[in-house]
Order: sequence, then structure tokens, then C-alpha cells
Amino acid sequence: MIILQNIKSLLKSIPSSVTLVAVSKTKPVSDIQDAYDAGLRVFGENKIQEMVNKYEVLPKDIQWHMIGHLQRNKVKYMAHFVDLIHGVDSFKTLKEIDKQAKKHHRVISCLLQAKIAEEETKFGLSFDAIENILQSQELEELKNIQIYGLMGMASFTSDKSQVAKEFQSLHGFLNRLKSKDFTANNIALETLSMGMSGDYELAIANGSTMIRVGSAIFGARNYIA
Ligand SMILES: *Cc1c(COP(=O)(O)O)cnc(C)c1O
Repeated sequence: MIILQNIKSLLKSIPSSVTLVAVSKTKPVSDIQDAYDAGLRVFGENKIQEMVNKYEVLPKDIQWHMIGHLQRNKVKYMAHFVDLIHGVDSFKTLKEIDKQAKKHHRVISCLLQAKIAEEETKFGLSFDAIENILQSQELEELKNIQIYGLMGMASFTSDKSQVAKEFQSLHGFLNRLKSKDFTANNIALETLSMGMSGDYELAIANGSTMIRVGSAIFGARNYIA
């Protein structure tokens, strides 16, 4: 019941143009089914094996998003069903996703993860590295992936102006990229994935089109995932 209430109040506070990814990592299948019954269809997981296990037992019209850091050798396990991969932070990983997608005659959408936080621990590409990927000749050859936009995680801080500044910088960067003419035709910069339970309102105010919300839907996680 609490999950249903959480979803209702969350949906009231976000514009319909923003995609809600319900982050169900560490949560049982029964919780996901409750959220599904409340109308949600997009779920995010950060471990490939966990996502595969859940995919196998849950309704097949769920769109599964991989939001965690990717281990290249595990991409093959989700290539037949994953809908969007948020955390791509190297060209090598793009190549592996392309290779695995090809085996299933699919085109897998990917977001490039930008490093916007100040902390050292966060994964992600610099803005320059992202531009280099988008401009590279090699990208054009990857027919089984599509670059669908960017993803970022703000610093873990209570300083809202810092968080807002980081979101703004990524939004501004995406807009600059949109105004450029890249030759690869597998680039469609439509999505800006930023914002979690603690900062999604700030993210939306600063240009987010896709938020990844876990604990505000499912409650606190029991362990760090
Ligand atoms: C866990 C996680 C989230 C959701 O975090 P909450 O604070 O529970 O909303 C969002 N994005 C990524 C990449 C995550 O790993």
C-alpha cells in the first residue's frame, strides 16, 4: 500500500513530459509487481544479474533500464531485453553493447554518463571525452546502438546550489551538443537522465527529462547497493 501511495504523490509532483524510472535495486519482485499494478512500466536496476532474474519472472511489457556501472563481460546477459543503458562511460563499452545487440538483431539505446559531481568516486566521462566519442568515425560503424542522450549524478551534498549548478552544467552541455552537426546517424540526443529521490525536483527544474527514483517509491534500502 505504501508503494502505491508513494507513486501517487510522486506522479503528482512531476510533469508528464518527464519519464520516471522506478529504481528497484535490492527490492523483491513483489514490490516491483505492486509498482507495476500502480501503473509503472519503467524499472531501473544497477546489477545485471539481478535485473535478469527479475526480468524472467515479471510481466514482459516492463522496460528495463540498466543504471549502474557496467561490467563489459556481463553485457551479453541483458542484450536480448534491456531497453536503455544509462551508465556508459567508455567507447569500449559501447562497442561491446553493439556487438551483443547485433547478435539479437536489436538496436540498444545508450546514455553517455558525464562526470558532473565533485567527488572523486563517481564514474563518468568528461565533457571533452563525450564530444570525442560523438565525433569519432568509429561511432558511425556501431549500427546496433543509438546514443540517446546523457546521464549524470550530482554531488552527494545538502548544498542545493551546488547540486543545481551541476545539473545546469550538464543541461547546458547537452544543449550545446544538440546545436552541433554530428555525422553519425546513430545519435539522437533526446534524453537527459538526472535526478534521484533526494534531488529530482531540482533536476527537473534544471532540464532533466528522465529521473531515477528508488527510495522515494520503495522505501530505504537495507544495504548499500
Ligand atoms: C540507486 C540509484 C538511484 C536511486 O537512488 P534513490 O536515492 O534511492 O532514489 C538512481 N540512480 C542511480 C545510478 C542509482 O544507483
